[in-house]
Amino acid sequence: MPSPINRRLFLGRTAGLGAGALFVRAAGLEAVPSRGGIGRTPIIVTSHSNETGQRAVQDAWGILSSGGSALDAVELAANVIEVDPEDMSVGYGGLPNEDGVVQLDASIMDGRTYNAGAVASLEGIKTPSSVARLVMERTDHVLMVGPGALDLAKSFGFEPEDLMTETSRARWLEWRENRSDQDDWGPPDHLKDREEAQLGGEPAFHYGTVNVLAVDGNGDVSGITTTSGLSWKINGRVGDSPIIGAGLYVDNDVGAAGATGRGEDVIKSCASYFIVERMRAGRSPQQACEDALEMIRRRYAKVNPAFMPGEKFVALNKDGDYGCAWSYGGRGIPQMSVRDEAGLQIYEGVRFGD
Ligand code: ASP
Repeated sequence: MPSPINRRLFLGRTAGLGAGALFVRAAGLEAVPSRGGIGRTPIIVTSHSNETGQRAVQDAWGILSSGGSALDAVELAANVIEVDPEDMSVGYGGLPNEDGVVQLDASIMDGRTYNAGAVASLEGIKTPSSVARLVMERTDHVLMVGPGALDLAKSFGFEPEDLMTETSRARWLEWRENRSDQDDWGPPDHLKDREEAQLGGEPAFHYGTVNVLAVDGNGDVSGITTTSGLSWKINGRVGDSPIIGAGLYVDNDVGAAGATGRGEDVIKSCASYFIVERMRAGRSPQQACEDALEMIRRRYAKVNPAFMPGEKFVALNKDGDYGCAWSYGGRGIPQMSVRDEAGLQIYEGVRFGD
């Protein structure tokens, strides 16, 4: 496993890189050093820094390094993660809603054509990002939901499958039995030994989503955001991932951004669009991700001064520079997997609010 590159160490090593390391602020033309990862194109990044995330960008590098498109690269990388049964945040094996049904959300954007597609509450298909691509390329629509999205997938030959794995079902059953002592799930009260009745500790509420962003050799930018959404969500709830501008935004003149975390915050703040616009105004991808967290924090501060956003943002600009950030909340340093000509790296971003 490659060793993580700390943002500050990385900057030390790349000091003096010149133009690639500099950004020009639109207002006042003040040059500011990039505070984030400095890559070169073609490049692909994902918010997943685990083994599957690394494999995803490695596999997709094969497309980019042989002159393929960013669009094909992000789809392949997303599919690698979506079909991994062990990843409980996305696709096959993703955690279900409160009724035990896996409902997937995904979006895709092609900077080259300024085109976008998305699916929401899609059931039974392991690779929702590929269905989002069909919405984008084979219909004149952007967003399709539920049974309509499934019908579309079936019309292109996708076969619905059970998306629950043994593990995701066990996690859901644990949650159902432990969420309240006022319902009838679990062994009968008179037989309940509090220790044994629990199928296994208090199950954690689960966040998780995958963002994949890429720039290809032609300088075209693409992105995908794909997720099973918040675990145990209310049937029919749609998060930010399939909402263009919220969970994902791509602009071929600037770059791309994606979001993970509490989708409700991201939808209300149009966070990915905000990040891309900050980059357009001269902020580095790293700075733009931190700007988005600060923007959300400030808005909530009016009603809750102690509020810290729970989201993770990742961004990549057209030159191949990248960044990621989340706020503290008891977590470690946010990471992302990066693959460019220099090889595979794990980049460590910024824990906002430290
Ligand atoms: N953003 C996703 C949603 O709200 C969930 C997550 O990233 O954990 O559906």
